Amino acid sequence: MTAGRHRRARAAFATQATFAALVFLALAAYQFIPDNDWWTCTWQIAIGWSAAAAIVLGARRLPRRDRTPWWFFAAGVFCNASGIAVAKISENVWHLDDLPTPADPFFLGLYPLCAVGMGLLIRRRDEWRNRSALLDAATITTGFGLLAWIYVIAPIDLDESMGRWAHATQVAYPIGDLLLLAMMVRLLRSSGSRGASLWWLGGALAALLIGDSAWVVLDNLGTVGLTLEDTPWFRRLLESVFLVAFALFGIAALDPAATRLGQSAQKQTTRLGPGLLALLTGASLIAPGLLAVQLGDGQLANGWSIVVGSTVLFLLVVGRMAGLLREVERQAGQLRALARSDELTGLPNRRAWNDELPHALERARRGAESVAVAIVDLDHFKHFNDTFGHPAGDRLLKAASAAWHGTLRKVDLIARYGGEEFVVLLPGADAAHGHFVLTRMLAVTPLGQTFSAGLAVWNGEETSDELLQRADEALYLAKDRGRNRIEMPLAA
Ligand code: GH3
Ligand code: MG
Ligand code: MG
Repeated sequence: MTAGRHRRARAAFATQATFAALVFLALAAYQFIPDNDWWTCTWQIAIGWSAAAAIVLGARRLPRRDRTPWWFFAAGVFCNASGIAVAKISENVWHLDDLPTPADPFFLGLYPLCAVGMGLLIRRRDEWRNRSALLDAATITTGFGLLAWIYVIAPIDLDESMGRWAHATQVAYPIGDLLLLAMMVRLLRSSGSRGASLWWLGGALAALLIGDSAWVVLDNLGTVGLTLEDTPWFRRLLESVFLVAFALFGIAALDPAATRLGQSAQKQTTRLGPGLLALLTGASLIAPGLLAVQLGDGQLANGWSIVVGSTVLFLLVVGRMAGLLREVERQAGQLRALARSDELTGLPNRRAWNDELPHALERARRGAESVAVAIVDLDHFKHFNDTFGHPAGDRLLKAASAAWHGTLRKVDLIARYGGEEFVVLLPGADAAHGHFVLTRMLAVTPLGQTFSAGLAVWNGEETSDELLQRADEALYLAKDRGRNRIEMPLAA
């Protein structure tokens, strides 16, 4: 980190800490201010607008190309907080009590604005088409969507006292929440950096969702809910949840890590950690859970919704599983390939050779063809290492492997048997052809180095081991007779 960057990060941290301290003082004070609409309202708007200002301040410190999502978050928070003023004015000055109220568009504006902001962030951090992240977001949203449908959206549908607009407005809130939930899961599953800013942002969205769900639960509690809603301290606590959401947006924007929020990660993660797994399991179990609750009540009121919900969840889970399986298979394939190749030269290794040789002999038996194998051993390689160093020896092994491989046909096989020893399989080759191939290999050996080789042609009966044994004996002969030469076994 340069000194300038260090200073800027420290300054950002100081601003964030100051804002956090002030806003939490304001939140604490909010619990004790006079029980008067104008007081509470002004307080709430002040916190909301300060948070919007904090987001703007934080965004202005980011590189220009990373700012846009934050403009949308700032607009969403500003819009929502302003809705509080509109609500108070329309209620107390204009005496408008019918739904939808003029404040609803302001409150609702938060959802699309935040969703667009998150969409832009996700696009910067990750490919949109990150399949497993999409499936996770869809699974969690479907589970909670089913819950929202049964307890919030469908009951609104049944209420005939409402006009069309009132109805649409009421439905828009839970749908907005589901949209935010989907985007939040997708954002948290994106592969970009996971700095503090991301968690503050996740916290802000979680607070919004918790606040909205609390209202729903209160509504469903009937008279108990009504009394709670009229209890000043409880009402304030609930409103504070939304104020916390505003504050967390501001804190996220002011976090030094906000600069990294718009950066994509080098590689995609397909990890399925225990937390995520628990969340996915929980979401998938919502459908059977609802079924159990309704059966317990002796009245299956939403049978078809549950059928559709569980079918979709089932398919999503299977889709996710298929993705994981494909990934496991891909990795198993990579491991298999790794286990069969030599790390230094990239040639097939001894294991691959041992697998392949019996097959080659079997093919030759069936086709009544000949096969030749050779063992190749570099001459005085220890001396080469001692003279030029071990790394130079490694480079020679690599270069020689590549050069030799280049002289062979596609059907031939060259493998590293160990150290500076190589084995060559020549299907269809007789002694003359084998000799010819090895001579060509000898000619291309780099840096003026040489090898000795033992060449054996399969007698049509012997095992792989016996064939190799004869080639090895021929190799000894070649070393004995002065190296830099190709020998055949004395007796076939
Ligand atoms: P000869 O002509 O009799 O085959 O003599 P040589 O020196 O080639 O044979 P020896 O078996 O005595 O030595 C083989 C050397 O190969 C010893 C070992 O350090 C070296 N060697 C084996 N594997 C590697 C490797 O992966 N990299 C390098 N640089 N050297 C290796
Ligand atoms: Mg050797
Ligand atoms: Mg050697």
